[in-house]
Amino acid sequence: MIFNPVPDYHMHTPRCNHATGDVRDYANAAIQCGLTEIGMSDHSPMPGGFDKAWRMDRSELPSYLKEIEQARDALSDTLTIRVGLEADFHPGTEVYVKEMIAAYDWDYVIGSVHYIKDWGFDNPDCMQIWDTWNIEDAYCAYFELVRQSALTGLFNIIGHPDLIKKFGHRADANCKRVQSAEESMLQAVLNSGAALEVSSAGLRKPVGEMYPHKRIIKRAAELGIPFSYGSDAHSPAEVGHGMDACLNMLASFGVKEIASFKQRKMTMVPINHA
Ligand code: ZN
Ligand code: FE
Ligand code: FE
Ligand code: ZN
Repeated sequence: MIFNPVPDYHMHTPRCNHATGDVRDYANAAIQCGLTEIGMSDHSPMPGGFDKAWRMDRSELPSYLKEIEQARDALSDTLTIRVGLEADFHPGTEVYVKEMIAAYDWDYVIGSVHYIKDWGFDNPDCMQIWDTWNIEDAYCAYFELVRQSALTGLFNIIGHPDLIKKFGHRADANCKRVQSAEESMLQAVLNSGAALEVSSAGLRKPVGEMYPHKRIIKRAAELGIPFSYGSDAHSPAEVGHGMDACLNMLASFGVKEIASFKQRKMTMVPINHA
């Protein structure tokens, strides 16, 4: 199947301290690979110095926005650039995040779970903590947090929805508890009206497969949950990475359109040429 290029809504800037390239570099990379729409979604500020090293400071938000707006205006003939943010979902921070979202006209906000309590489970420096967890328990705790993130109604996109597998820790596929946690998570996403992100980032990580697992994609497609695509690029070379693999996976489950966002409103665009 031949696919139209679809929006890539997940990319970062050096403000998060673990990405390279400015907005123009990401935009130029997108133009080079034939994309017509992208969105920037750097790691948002979070309250109380939470996880400070991995995100922009609140004081950097204006320069982040200005940089995107300048690139957007300069390139508007060639590329649509949306203004987004990747906010963390961490219980107790909802009021802060809600206020931050209200403070600007975002095109979309991604809600991502990177923490179980204070364990940054996707951080290579916190790998040893896996030794203290039963894998199924970790999956259940993770999906419960993703479910709660959807229940807040704050997010347009649920980011990399099974990030917990990043380093290759696999829950038993027959575990009823994990199955039910997955299903509850999807029901909450369905009710929230958010899109579920299909992310190519996992293809570049030890797990070696996209987020989420095809079983989750299949079930989400059955439920009629909309999907968005994201490369989670932390360098310009990663823009659009794995797009065809992600679209092929979606198409194999009968998905025909993908989410596009403007001013927090979703519209669906077709993924394949007629
Ligand atoms: Zn990141
Ligand atoms: Fe993330
Ligand atoms: Fe990201
Ligand atoms: Zn991310």
